[in-house]
Amino acid sequence: MTETVDLVVIGGGIIGCSVVQHAAQLLPPSTRILLLERGPVAGATSGSCMGHLMVTPDTPQDYAFTRTSLDLWGELQQQEGGFDHNPTGALYLADADEDLELLPTLLEQFRANGATAEVLDGRQLREVEPGLAEDLPGGLYYPGDGVVLPMLACGAMLRVAQRANPNVVVRPGCAVIGFERDGDRITGVRSERGTIRCENVVNATGVWAPDLAELAGQARLPIYPRAGNLAITGHHVSPIRTQLLEVSYLRFAHGAATVDPTRTDDDVGGHAVNMQPQTNGGCLIGSTRQFRGMDKTINHALLRRSLSRAQRYVPAVATAPIVRTWVGLRPYAIDKHPLIGPWPQLRGLWIAAGHEGLGISLAPITGRLLAQQLAGLAPAIDHTPYLPARFAR
Ligand SMILES: Cc1cc2nc3c(=O)[nH]c(=O)nc-3n(C[C@H](O)[C@H](O)[C@H](O)COP(=O)(O)OP(=O)(O)OC[C@H]3O[C@@H](n4cnc5c(N)ncnc54)[C@H](O)[C@@H]3O)c2cc1C
Repeated sequence: MTETVDLVVIGGGIIGCSVVQHAAQLLPPSTRILLLERGPVAGATSGSCMGHLMVTPDTPQDYAFTRTSLDLWGELQQQEGGFDHNPTGALYLADADEDLELLPTLLEQFRANGATAEVLDGRQLREVEPGLAEDLPGGLYYPGDGVVLPMLACGAMLRVAQRANPNVVVRPGCAVIGFERDGDRITGVRSERGTIRCENVVNATGVWAPDLAELAGQARLPIYPRAGNLAITGHHVSPIRTQLLEVSYLRFAHGAATVDPTRTDDDVGGHAVNMQPQTNGGCLIGSTRQFRGMDKTINHALLRRSLSRAQRYVPAVATAPIVRTWVGLRPYAIDKHPLIGPWPQLRGLWIAAGHEGLGISLAPITGRLLAQQLAGLAPAIDHTPYLPARFAR
């Protein structure tokens, strides 16, 4: 079977779904858009992660990137809803005096970007979050963060897409197995169910994006799986209502990786606790980081350390039943910026991948920037730091 469409998006995770949504909204409604996903929608990383919508204030560019994306999450909530969007705010918690020293810098970063944030002492912390341990020395409250349930959000994005453009087709259970080319131009993809002719193809396959690039005859993209162990408590036992994270999380999660990401044998890994209230009353607890290839075996020692840190901050976690534990693979780009835009060495090939631990936060701005480039529109923010061309040889 051969069919013809205008745009194929490969990968039905949060990034592919957002690309489909924004392409459907920004390109003419006659544009035929096909999403190909080899498993179920949200069946990979986007269904095995946390849903913290996080603003990172480190630089004005980081702030614009994350803040604009969270505003787009707010718009999706207005347009569609149905994905447990919860504007919880975030508490960055200090455990020891050396952590307290990080708070003024963080506060200054938020303020320099015009955002409101507050440094709180231990008593004020417990006014925001009564379940916190009584001896915590302080923290920082940023009201602008939130939480979503990513699997439901994928569905909401696709519903909005199909309302904006009746020519959007979603095809789960259909892997891409090859590409069609004419010289330096892409002319289609080969799927398990036949060939699809198209002018533009978006590789939104997360940790598999290097494999797909190779399948298209290109160099492997420098994206590496970074494993994270998670645990969740039973429903209706959540001892928290705010998104909580150790202030050291910033250094750990968003700073440079201290381990070579091309390694696949990091048995030790690291962790900084991150706790998230769920709408059903459960509490999702992470978050560990390890480079060990595609291995999704639970690292019990690391997860136990994570849980014991969680109890340090929220003592009631000690008696909350843990009902499930699992591992997700973050797509870590070597320079810590996602790849969003055209691949200059094969016309018609686009990339939207490599979001590491911020892909849920950044999905809407990623879809918007990619669709704006496809449509020839001015980008919502400076998109140049994310252009994949930086890795083209
Ligand atoms: C433990 C953990 C906690 C996290 N917490 C947060 C958080 O709190 N906030 C946040 O913002 N981010 C968080 N993240 C990061 C976020 O989950 C990821 O950045 C994001 O889900 C990546 O989405 P994706 O669409 O790129 O990849 P995926 O969701 O993996 O989607 C890629 C899809 O491509 C498909 N695919 C692959 N090959 C093919 C093929 N040949 N043909 C067709 N389809 C194919 C796969 O089946 C897959 O469904 C976390 C991640 C982990 C692991």
